[in-house]
Amino acid sequence: TGEVTKKKPNLQTMPAGVPWPTYVKMFVASLLAICAGQKWYTDSYDPSTGEVYCRVPNSGKEEIEAAVQAARAAFPGWSSWSPQERSRVLNKLADLLEQSLEEFAQAESKDQGKTLTLARTMDIPRSVQNFRFFASSILHHTSECTQMDHAGCFHYTVRSPVGVAGLISPWNLPLYLLTWKIAPAIAAGNTVIAKPSELTSVTAWMLCKLLDKAGIPPGVVNIVFGTGPRVGEALVTHPEVPLISFTGGQLTAERITHLSAPHFKKLSLELGGKNPAIIFDDANLEECIPATVRSSFANQGEICLCTSRIFVQKSIYSEFLKRFVEATREWKVGIPSDPSASMGALISNTHLEKVRSYIKKARAEGAQILCGEGVDTLDLPPKNRAGYFMLPTVITNITDESCCMKEEIFGPVTCVVPFDNEEEVIKRANNVKYGLAATVWSSNVGRIHRVAKGLQSGLVWTNCWLIRELNLPFGGMKSSGIGREGAKDSYEFFTEIKTITVKH
Ligand code: NAD
Repeated sequence: TGEVTKKKPNLQTMPAGVPWPTYVKMFVASLLAICAGQKWYTDSYDPSTGEVYCRVPNSGKEEIEAAVQAARAAFPGWSSWSPQERSRVLNKLADLLEQSLEEFAQAESKDQGKTLTLARTMDIPRSVQNFRFFASSILHHTSECTQMDHAGCFHYTVRSPVGVAGLISPWNLPLYLLTWKIAPAIAAGNTVIAKPSELTSVTAWMLCKLLDKAGIPPGVVNIVFGTGPRVGEALVTHPEVPLISFTGGQLTAERITHLSAPHFKKLSLELGGKNPAIIFDDANLEECIPATVRSSFANQGEICLCTSRIFVQKSIYSEFLKRFVEATREWKVGIPSDPSASMGALISNTHLEKVRSYIKKARAEGAQILCGEGVDTLDLPPKNRAGYFMLPTVITNITDESCCMKEEIFGPVTCVVPFDNEEEVIKRANNVKYGLAATVWSSNVGRIHRVAKGLQSGLVWTNCWLIRELNLPFGGMKSSGIGREGAKDSYEFFTEIKTITVKH
């Protein structure tokens, strides 16, 4: 997390021309409320320069209390709106967001360090799509019912929104993941308190300003800002928030599970991965190599679905490795606004150091670093030289037991190792605590089905990566999480089911 300071922000020291307020406040019941915690700020850094460029209030219990009361007050009204009415305002919100796409993309790129191209083509369009998708899917859920039974009874089910939903999201895909939670929660009739990561709060703040215009009543969406231990825990432990949807790291998820257990809250946990790509000797390497470079290094490797272990069948291992390293060297690192850059800056200095420490450990174990060195040779403008940049890194000659093959690094680092056969590679791919997203490359359909079936992974992509069908379940096995998200899954999570029996 960022540094917490007690000082009021000195606006004079803020860089000129910052297109959003230099510090943000809470958004409760449609008001940008001045919160009691406003004297406590978290510095927010521009990852591409290493400079503090805005300050985020670190709210606390008082703000959560205000947000819960606003959300509770709004719930009876909002939950009585028909799905069609809710769908209409969600679509309106999607339209407004789409109209501001460029402004949001610029903000997301500056706040997170990702390339502007990625923010323009993935993060913000996908956030728009989240609202449109759930605006549509809410209209298609049906309930179950029976024929009249022998006792003259007719049975059916109804689903009702749960109440005030707590939504906590990470820094890697800030608006994309926040809206992936807000949209289904409010579409199903809940009111929400959403907490973006303190490292990337700006687009969530910008979203606040569109809610009112879209016609979403005050109190339906409340957004609180601040660090996990202060504002996140106040939300998780609040007795009147019966449901928490969380995306983030495993240790935080453990803490949230522990804190929410006494309240028996409904929990959805979307956590990390140590995702394998399995490349058989009959794979189409023309397609596989660029796709695997992308799956390893997109968004600086800061996507939970990124590949970080590449298993290559022995007969093509040398050829693959050579071509893969060549393609990785072409993956250009640059300032986020550079249209030719494929990769921007990592989120923070702390994270950069953590990612580098994995490379150091691998080297100490005798692994070979095939590319990734020489970040100093990057041609960056002077003001960006203190930014959190690194080069995409390929490691080989490493054992399955090495920490680089076991732990989530969440940066642009991938390991390439050889394998002999199907049975062996399935076992090795499954030999980690995570089970989020695997990729299989082969032209043998029978093999694709066998391997996909054997992998302990919530998602398996074959001969592609990151193609999503939002209707279908998304989520991980083992330490990658609990629960699934998607049209039906999110609807079920954000509602409670009731069985009603009517005797005629
Ligand atoms: P994180 O767990 O540090 O933080 C996530 C969120 O939780 C932030 O908003 C943070 O403020 C909050 N938080 C932290 N401590 C808390 C506490 N004690 N109580 C309540 N809230 C708390 O994770 P991160 O570093 O922001 O994100 C990176 C992690 O997220 C990686 O492990 C990545 O794999 C995972 N992730 C998973 C998915 C998925 O869909 N499976 C998607 C994106 C990221």
